[in-house]
Formats: sequence, C-alpha cells, structure tokens
Amino acid sequence: MDIAPCFDDPHALLRAHGLRATPQRVAVTRLLLKQAIHATPRDVYVALNTDFPSMSQNTVYLTLAHLEQAGLLRRMYIAGRTVFDSNIQMHDHACCHHCGRIVDLPQAGQTDSPGELGKWQVEGQSRLWTGLCPDCIQPPALP
Ligand SMILES: [Zn+2]
Ligand SMILES: [Zn+2]
Repeated sequence: MDIAPCFDDPHALLRAHGLRATPQRVAVTRLLLKQAIHATPRDVYVALNTDFPSMSQNTVYLTLAHLEQAGLLRRMYIAGRTVFDSNIQMHDHACCHHCGRIVDLPQAGQTDSPGELGKWQVEGQSRLWTGLCPDCIQPPALP
C-alpha cells in the first residue's frame, strides 16, 4: 500500500489503517513516519516525554506494537536491541557496532529464499552489514 499521500496527516494515515487516532498514536506517527527512521521504544519515549510527560514507556511500546500490526512499522532485532523501522519497503541495513547507528541500504544480491526455507512462510528478508561507520573510524595517529 502506498502511504505517501497521507504522510503529512497522521490522523488520516491512522484511520486509513483502521486505527483510532488517539493523541499517543498521532504523536508517535508524526515522530516516526515523517522520515525513514529506526527507533527503539526507549528512543520514542525520550523524544515524546517533553510533550507527553504522562505517557508511560508501556504506552509507547503498545502504541508501537499497534502501528506494527497495522503495517506502518517493521520490528527488527539488531545488535541486541528491538528497533522499529518506519521504512516498510524491503531493504538491508548497516549497523555501526560503536555508536549503534543503523543505516538503510538498498537490498543487494540474491533475494530468492533458499531451498531450506521450503516449509516456512517467508515474510521478508534483510541483510545486516556490521562494522564501524565513517564517524567512528579512528583517524590514524599522527607520527
Ligand atoms: Zn558509528
Ligand atoms: Zn531500515
């Protein structure tokens, strides 16, 4: 489903996906869906805490889970963290093991599922590249 036309209108986006536009859902939708972003539940909680001091971490988590169930977010497990991805197109990721930055990459290489997955119900495929991002590579020591 192409969700781009109502990107700027969280209320319409939520309603189009069968969700009631509660203030919490609108806030989370506005934060995550205005751009492709990878956020842990804690990231979202911290980002919204100023405007919604009464929103608990549990409410944030449930809101993210509802948006995931509605197909607006994808949940991933990267480097021991649960991360919600607002880019729901198939894509690969690179994760910096120093700063934790996660970058979207176009899907590279073979996308056919291996024969070993014959009895699986495959829902997606994403490759994870790990290493150090350019900001975390130590400059060589000066002589
Ligand atoms: Zn880094
Ligand atoms: Zn992503």
